[in-house]
Amino acid sequence: MYKTILVPIDLDEDTLISLAAKHVEDLAEQNDARIHFVSVIPSYQYAATLSFAFTMDALNESKVKDIALTTLKGIVSKFNISDDRIEHHIISGGTPKDQILKLAENLNADLIVIGSNRPSIATYLIGSNAAAIVRHAKCSVLVAR
Ligand code: ADP
Repeated sequence: MYKTILVPIDLDEDTLISLAAKHVEDLAEQNDARIHFVSVIPSYQYAATLSFAFTMDALNESKVKDIALTTLKGIVSKFNISDDRIEHHIISGGTPKDQILKLAENLNADLIVIGSNRPSIATYLIGSNAAAIVRHAKCSVLVAR
C-alpha cells in the first residue's frame, strides 16, 4: 500500500530510533517500500554548530551538510532495513516542517512517519513540526509515540 515512505529524523534527538524504528522496519518489509530518511538543518543551527565545534572557515554549507549526512547515515544504519530500499536526504535552510512537507510532495510520498515530540519535553501536545506536518501533509502521517 505504501510505496514511498518519508521518515524525518531530528539529528539532535534521535527519537525515532526508539519511537518509530519498528514501525518503519515493518512498513518497509510489508509494502516493499522505498524509505526516504531526511534531516533538515535549520539556518539557526549553523551558529550553534560554530560555537560547539568549528572554526569560522570550516563553517560552510557543504561541510555542515557532509557532517549531517554522516550522522544521519549512522542513525539509519541501526534500522533493520536493507540498503537498497533506503535513500538519505539532507536539506539546509528553512524550517523542518516546511522542508519536510515540500520533500513529501516532490517525492510523491504516500506516508510520513514522525516522532510526536522529544521525550525529554514533558507535554501532552505534539511538537510544532509534528503538528504542522499532520495538519498540512497531503498524504497519511503516522505519529509514533
Ligand atoms: P519537539 O518540538 O518536541 O522537538 P518536533 O515537532 O520538532 O517536536 O519533532 C517531532 C518530529 O518531527 C521528530 O521526531 C522528527 O520526526 C521531526 N523533526 C523535527 N525536527 C526535525 C529536523 N530538523 N529534521 C527532520 N525531522 C525533524
